[in-house]
Amino acid sequence: MIENIIISFIVLLYGLVIGSFLNVCIYRIPIGKSVVGGRSYCPHCDTLIPWYLNIPVFSYLFLRGRCKNCRGLISPVYPAVELLNGILYLIVWFTYGLSLESAFLAMLLSVLIVVSFIDWQKRVISNKLVVFLLGLSVLHGVYQSVYFGAAWYTWVIGFFAASVPLFFLSLFFPDGLGGEDIKLMAAAGLFMGPPVLLALFLGSLYAGLTALLLITVKKGSLKSEIPFGPFLSLGIFTAMIFGGQIFLFAVPV
Ligand SMILES: [Zn+2]
Repeated sequence: MIENIIISFIVLLYGLVIGSFLNVCIYRIPIGKSVVGGRSYCPHCDTLIPWYLNIPVFSYLFLRGRCKNCRGLISPVYPAVELLNGILYLIVWFTYGLSLESAFLAMLLSVLIVVSFIDWQKRVISNKLVVFLLGLSVLHGVYQSVYFGAAWYTWVIGFFAASVPLFFLSLFFPDGLGGEDIKLMAAAGLFMGPPVLLALFLGSLYAGLTALLLITVKKGSLKSEIPFGPFLSLGIFTAMIFGGQIFLFAVPV
């Protein structure tokens, strides 16, 4: 019991620290800056942020969301990303325990956070991130095949399962669906196999419900743009965590 509480705490802290790095990725990848090296600066006054004021979530709360030097507002997106990553790591740990599968899944979800926030802010899914996801998926496939005897073609089916239908849909709805969403679902399919279809279904459902909500509440139109990436990511997450029992071809755990 005590042991589990301590591990939960460590997993959460680890998730927060990685979340802090994800913020660096979300900020730097769209402007083509390296994500390794370099220090953090206040975006308002360019003051170097010392390490003790760069502690995930806590520094934000301690400084009440303002820069210590210029009192400029710090975006609440930073602590939100850190907290989100920490909570997701906890959920992964509760679901898959301390295993290599958990490590793979945690990495997948962290990349999806970066993908989602960049897509939300800049309306673009970085090719670098898609390539990273493809690499991670290949390693995950090798691990699953060696340790659980999963057939290699599971991943090939996954690669095409959601991306091909999305491609044909994009021919009919060129405005709503981008090549970016197709790439994302191909990479996710390579990671999770055929359950990626469940991820696509759930992601579309979330996006559809949100669009409907926006139309009713803000009287927006169907044309009002919502990025598909975050919803697809949420679909992938739900399918990975809760989809095991639903799908025949579920990833063995
Ligand atoms: Zn400042």
